[in-house]
Amino acid sequence: MKLILLGPPGAGKGTQAAELASHYGIPHVSTGDLFRAAYKSGDELGLKAHEVIQRGELVPDSIVIGLVERKLDSLKGSGWLLDGFPRTMDQATALDSLLERRGQGLDAVLLIEVEGEEIVARLKDRRICRDCGATYHLRFKPPSIQGQCDMCGGELYQRDDDRPATIRRRLAVYVAETHPLIEYYERKGQLVRVDGNKGIDEVMAEVKESLDRLIAERS
Ligand code: AMP
Repeated sequence: MKLILLGPPGAGKGTQAAELASHYGIPHVSTGDLFRAAYKSGDELGLKAHEVIQRGELVPDSIVIGLVERKLDSLKGSGWLLDGFPRTMDQATALDSLLERRGQGLDAVLLIEVEGEEIVARLKDRRICRDCGATYHLRFKPPSIQGQCDMCGGELYQRDDDRPATIRRRLAVYVAETHPLIEYYERKGQLVRVDGNKGIDEVMAEVKESLDRLIAERS
């Protein structure tokens, strides 16, 4: 299965992607996680990307496309779930060419739709585990022990780009650069819309229902 998760920052892509990847047994490829891991390990690419990410801007296409191509090459033979890629038209067409070169196709593009003010409310209370990257929310998905990851006991922190001023910039970038992809994939007949305004479990149920229907139609 080859899937893309599309949606504004704060739509819950990361949370849904982690659960979907384990449910369907496919690798979860998050470009944001790849950049954060590269930064943590002191890699030059990570340091460069970090500056851009902190401003709420997008890392240049030339860097992201190369990174994703290398990652997908390493996953040859398996499916994948892309979370946070593509985010621009150039990235979408680069992915199309890559798939064409390999004689492969996308199964679906899941669009998680969420309203603007809800996004700011969600992101400002999001917390991430410094060690394993698990995601929490102070109101909707709080950890059992404050400030500590339920999975590995790691310290929870707030991403620099989850502060309100940067959130607004990320949203503006989403509207300008990523929103056009909705029409692009809709015209190709690959878009599946999911209402992301509901709770995590309800959204998950809707996503699984849509995917199971798709799998049944194709088999
Ligand atoms: P995310 O974890 O998906 O919210 O990504 C965090 C940040 O990483 C984004 O706000 C961008 O600055 C950068 N980033 C992640 N994916 C991409 C991408 N496909 N293209 C450009 N920048 C990206």
